[in-house]
Amino acid sequence: MERPALVVTGSIFQTPEPTRLEHREAASVVVGVDGVIQAVHGPGAEAEKAKADAVTVVDLGSGAALIPGLVDLHIHAPQWPQVGTGLDLRLERWLFEYTFPLEQRYDDLAFAQRVWDDLVPGLLARGTTTAVYYGTVHEPATVALAQACVQYGQRAYVGRVAMDHPEGTPVTYRDRSPEEGIEASRRSIDAIRSLQSSLVQPIITPRFIPACSDALLEGLGRLAEETGSLVQTHCSENDWEHHYVLERHGVTDTLSLDRFGLLRPGTVLAHADLVGDADLELIARRHAGIAHCPLSNIYFGNAVFPTRRALAAGVRVGLGTDIAGGAEPALLGQVPMAVNVSRLLEDGVDNRLDAENRGVADSRIDTVTAFWMATVGGARVLDAPVGLLEPGRSFDAVAVDLGPLGIWPEVDDSARVFEKLTRLTTSSNITEVWVAGRPCLP
Ligand SMILES: [Zn+2]
Repeated sequence: MERPALVVTGSIFQTPEPTRLEHREAASVVVGVDGVIQAVHGPGAEAEKAKADAVTVVDLGSGAALIPGLVDLHIHAPQWPQVGTGLDLRLERWLFEYTFPLEQRYDDLAFAQRVWDDLVPGLLARGTTTAVYYGTVHEPATVALAQACVQYGQRAYVGRVAMDHPEGTPVTYRDRSPEEGIEASRRSIDAIRSLQSSLVQPIITPRFIPACSDALLEGLGRLAEETGSLVQTHCSENDWEHHYVLERHGVTDTLSLDRFGLLRPGTVLAHADLVGDADLELIARRHAGIAHCPLSNIYFGNAVFPTRRALAAGVRVGLGTDIAGGAEPALLGQVPMAVNVSRLLEDGVDNRLDAENRGVADSRIDTVTAFWMATVGGARVLDAPVGLLEPGRSFDAVAVDLGPLGIWPEVDDSARVFEKLTRLTTSSNITEVWVAGRPCLP
């Protein structure tokens, strides 16, 4: 075996399955020059030999934890300056009054560059090692976002937004025709692929059905088939959007996207709050996946996504921040949030109803399942070799200082330490982040 580039020793917490937490004390992760994990050793002779051979050795000590890097399946990069604001309007007004006017500014490449130079390192510092981004309609700004990801070393899927519908988009911010939207999307795929980065790839991005003509959706479905590029879009996000598609196409978003050839292996469907069982069955059968964005859904979704039901149906589910519909930039914050909303779904919220009629039984998930979605689940949606620290996967990982979390060895077993880690970690106690074996923090 080649000489290891890196050995990181620390206490690993990870979730190989939705209901299984794995904790390995003083494990040594051995990483090759290609950034791929060669082995994970417990304490002993093998670990010592790997450390002696390695170019770089990092020992996190017993007061820290090593977790797999976080996979954020749904980020609107241009909405970064809007994070934390504008949550007073319904989705259809929020888009036209706050969001489209902001996104339109990205025809100014210098402005775009300044935002990307803040966004990408900012998300890395919060532990987001894989990011699925919507760019804007503008090709130069979108390609610059992909370049920023290459520069800062973030694993990323970057999509030039396609949208041309005369009613669903403003005249000043749209593709002027379906053909223009398809060709600009094709050029952006070529431009991002020409960066020749193993970390960054393009993703075809019809914004959502209300913003796209049928001709555009059809052309983008063909483009996905021709180029083999992944696809992302929004799906049955809320009542307005879901019923708009039912009226326009006579079927749900899921079925409509499938008819346009957009429901493919690796397609990332954001939200899916209002999907039914037939939709879930089709999403599973197509090997597409869902980006569950629990905080955003509180403001815009009108319902709680049924995580347990989706997982039971065999659907691939990960988590997303939905920056800036979600006002929390750290994906780790969506772990407790996914737990929180599942509890609200199970118990219900209307105190005028009897307890047995107030909620949806068997809806709750715990932090183990939510963390699994934030790592393995997201990786499965994208079919990316990340999400677990095990041989053959890329070393995308986050070091967390447990000091500020209030760990009491007398009472805290490893399950409790993990729960505190998922609920209480912020960027201030994330001490190092690696993507493909390379450290990413300044
Ligand atoms: Zn979104």
